[in-house]
Amino acid sequence: MARYTGPVCRLCRRERTKLFLKGERCYTLKCPVSDQAQERTMRAYPPGEHGRDRMRQGSEYLSQLREKQKARRIYGLLEKQFRNLYEEANRRPGITGETLLQMLETRLDNVVYRAAWGASRSASRQLVRHGHVLVNGKRVTIPSYRVRKGEVITLKAPTRENFHVVRNRDVLDRQLVPWLESGENGFQVTVLSLPIREQITEPVNEQLIVELYSK
Ligand code: SF4
Repeated sequence: MARYTGPVCRLCRRERTKLFLKGERCYTLKCPVSDQAQERTMRAYPPGEHGRDRMRQGSEYLSQLREKQKARRIYGLLEKQFRNLYEEANRRPGITGETLLQMLETRLDNVVYRAAWGASRSASRQLVRHGHVLVNGKRVTIPSYRVRKGEVITLKAPTRENFHVVRNRDVLDRQLVPWLESGENGFQVTVLSLPIREQITEPVNEQLIVELYSK
């Protein structure tokens, strides 16, 4: 499935918030969206020739659009994939926005990211694509695979020695979310339950996304 392969820091600058798309760099002073960057006059404004002009307050539609773009970029989806996911969430019983977030959060690449095996969601996606991740003992190479309650996600034994995986686990101070349980010295996670809204901490206002797509 296609994915965005362009520069990612400009996506954060466009949304004017940290989306943590680059792994370790996101936690350093090199991040152009950090508070320190503002003080050091780095490019803490939207990208492009007219980036500074975009600092003004926008319309209701603009805030809905930006919220959708932000969610899409956090989880690394293209427009069509995100729209299809919304349509599926809309068909399900329950609150559409919350269902959408739950579906995003239970993607296999996101679970690998939550387990801190990958520095970013795109790195986690690569771990899945390259067959390093097992679900209930079977290799799954589909990043959009949605984990279910009771499933056990494991990093393959040889990959546990991988330099990047070891470094990520040492350097990234990432707390495991409450709906996952860690095992096998952190190389296995079990899905205790599907995440509820309060357990999803990404800075996304899902109501604005629903309003946008409901027009
Ligand atoms: Fe770049 Fe990460 Fe900062 Fe975003 S949070 S601007 S990806 S360094």
